[in-house]
Amino acid sequence: MSRTVTDLDAAVNEIADEMRRRPDRGEVAAYIPELARVDPGAFGLVVIAADGHVAAAGDCDTPFSIQSISKVFTLTLALGMVGDRLWRRVGREPSGSPFNSIVQLERERGVPRNPFINAGAIAVTDLILSGHQPREALGEILRFMQFLARDASITIDEAVAASEQRTGFRNIALANYMKSFGVVDNPVDYTLGVYFHHCAISMSCRQLATAGRFLAHSGRDPETGLSVVQVERARRINAVMLTCGHYDGSGEFAYRVGLPGKSGVGGGILAVAPGRGSIAVWSPGLDASGNSHLGRAALERLTKRLGWSIFGL
Ligand code: GLU
Repeated sequence: MSRTVTDLDAAVNEIADEMRRRPDRGEVAAYIPELARVDPGAFGLVVIAADGHVAAAGDCDTPFSIQSISKVFTLTLALGMVGDRLWRRVGREPSGSPFNSIVQLERERGVPRNPFINAGAIAVTDLILSGHQPREALGEILRFMQFLARDASITIDEAVAASEQRTGFRNIALANYMKSFGVVDNPVDYTLGVYFHHCAISMSCRQLATAGRFLAHSGRDPETGLSVVQVERARRINAVMLTCGHYDGSGEFAYRVGLPGKSGVGGGILAVAPGRGSIAVWSPGLDASGNSHLGRAALERLTKRLGWSIFGL
C-alpha cells in the first residue's frame, strides 16, 4: 500500500470521527415529510482515488435519498440524448436564488437559470421524458445510475417519492409556470412524476462516489475503461457543478471546498476532484441554503488536508 493511500485512509477516518463528535449538525429537511424521519446523527464519507483505492468511514453503506444529486446524472443523460440543444431550454449561470425560487423565471420567459435549481432540473427531466412513457424515462434514469455505480440493487424509495408528490406544491407551480412559456413539453404531472421519482433514488456514499468517477476522470470510468461522456462534456458538467451545484451557497462552497460538487436536501454531496478522485459525503442536517452542514465542513477539511482544491494547495 502506497503512502498516499495510507494518508487518504487516515484523513477520511479522522475527519469522519471529528464530524460525528460535532454538536452543530444543521436541520434535517422537513418540507418533504418522509425526509424528516432520517436519523440526524448519520454520517458517511467515501473517497475513491484515481487508482481505485476506496477510503470509507461511518455510515458509508447506508442508502439515503439522493434528491438533487440526481440532477447531475439527469443532466448527463439529457445531454447524451439531445446534445447542446439542451442549452436552449436551460441556462448555465448561477442563480443566486434558493433551490425552489420562481422569481427569475418571469424575467427570463420561463427559461431556468441552470439545470441544478429545481426549475432547471424539471426542464431537463421533461427533455428526457419526450418521446417516452414516464415509466420508460424513469427506468432509463435508474438503469443509468445502476450502470455507473456498478450496482443493480439501487432502487427508488417510493415512500419519499409519494411524500414529495403529495406536498411538492412549489415544484408543481414551477412546472406549470414553465409550461405556460412552452419550456415544458409533456403533461406537467408526467414530468413531475419522473422528477419526484428520480430525486427519490436511494444510494449510499459508496455507490454515489462510484457513480461520480467518470466526472473525476475525463468522462471515463477508470475501473472499466468505459467512456461515459466525451472529455469536453465531463469538463463542462464539472463547471456547472462548481458554479451552480449548491444553489445560493455555490460561491461559499467553491470558496471553502474548491471542488465541483452537487448537494441534495437528503444531506448528500457528490464532489469531484479532477484527476484525483470522486467523493461522496452524507450528513442529513442542512444549512440555510439547503446544503449538508457537516458534509461541507468535512469536504473543506478533506480538500485542505489532501491539497485537492482545484484552485491550488
Ligand atoms: N426533490 C427536491 C425538491 O424538488 C430536491 C431539492 C434538493 O435536493 O435540493 O424540492
